[in-house]
Amino acid sequence: MSFIMVRACHRCKEYVVINPANPSNQKIIKKFELKHARHALVSLSISEVKGYYENVGKKLLEEQ
Ligand SMILES: [Zn+2]
Repeated sequence: MSFIMVRACHRCKEYVVINPANPSNQKIIKKFELKHARHALVSLSISEVKGYYENVGKKLLEEQ
């Protein structure tokens, strides 16, 4: 199994997958970090949030 990292907000229970090879992903991460700037942001393995937190990557992409 590959080791996938995410940026997660503990307060909102939301996360986005970190994919350094994908340029549009960096925009999504920036957006996520701005949106949750004053919250509890952490970088975690996806296994720690999957099923508990919501993946909002698609939502953020569609907002652009
Ligand atoms: Zn938040």
